[in-house]
Amino acid sequence: MLQICALASGSSGNATVVSSGTTHLLVDAGASAGLIVDRLADLELAPPDLSGILVTHSHGDHYRSVGTLHARFGVPVFVDPSTAAALRRKARRTSWKRVTETAPIPELVGDIEVEALDTSHGDPQRDGRTVCFQFRHGRRRVAVVTDLGSYDDRLVGSLKGVDAILLEANYEESVVRRKLSDRTHSFHWRHLRTALGPRGHLSNAQCGNLLYEILAGPWTRVLLGHLSENHPDRELDNNDFETARRTVEDVFTKRGSSSPTIHRTWRTGREPGRRSDLIVTS
Ligand SMILES: [Zn+2]
Ligand SMILES: [Zn+2]
Repeated sequence: MLQICALASGSSGNATVVSSGTTHLLVDAGASAGLIVDRLADLELAPPDLSGILVTHSHGDHYRSVGTLHARFGVPVFVDPSTAAALRRKARRTSWKRVTETAPIPELVGDIEVEALDTSHGDPQRDGRTVCFQFRHGRRRVAVVTDLGSYDDRLVGSLKGVDAILLEANYEESVVRRKLSDRTHSFHWRHLRTALGPRGHLSNAQCGNLLYEILAGPWTRVLLGHLSENHPDRELDNNDFETARRTVEDVFTKRGSSSPTIHRTWRTGREPGRRSDLIVTS
């Protein structure tokens, strides 16, 4: 059995729990430490229950509270050495608490096998290695895959047949292209061009096509994550869950296949009526 639940998902912070019932892992800690502690409590977990935090990459929305959780609760931090070096450089320029001790990403934590898969995202010189994660326990396999502007056959081959996946559906391409042709959004053009690029984020259609490539069948559980929606300033939204779901389902329909069950995540995953779905594979 493996469980997966997004405590927070989106540009304001990402944190996802993957649990076998005995081993509990956190993928990223980019939301505030307080929110992560509260949301863990919803799952009847506390930070000391975590066997480790696995860091995907050195962007603040994935890393912000790693140092705080490590210092306050002694949670081990697993991160690629090149990403750890990038984090040390960045920590000098931010208020994030530095992590005093990190370990490379292991192949096994408790009873969960861990596989780090390279992603195409960010600036390799500045950010170090960027990865996503796949986990195995018994016959079950789940993956947390966000922050990638494109994907290759290697990633498709690794994720093929996964039982459940939290996959990025960051933006609806037509929304971003419309903003790029509109001078009133020129302040955000750089960010929007980066998001569209091969080292940015996956659009809804790219998300649908990747899902089509990897899914064994419509029984696979899919959580759409890192959605560009519900910003305090709604002008910044480049997506919403219903649009993302429709675009993903359209990809399956056009390719003559049944769409999987699609679940949602929320930016902070804790307001009443806005709780990200908990997925259990057994
Ligand atoms: Zn990122
Ligand atoms: Zn991100």
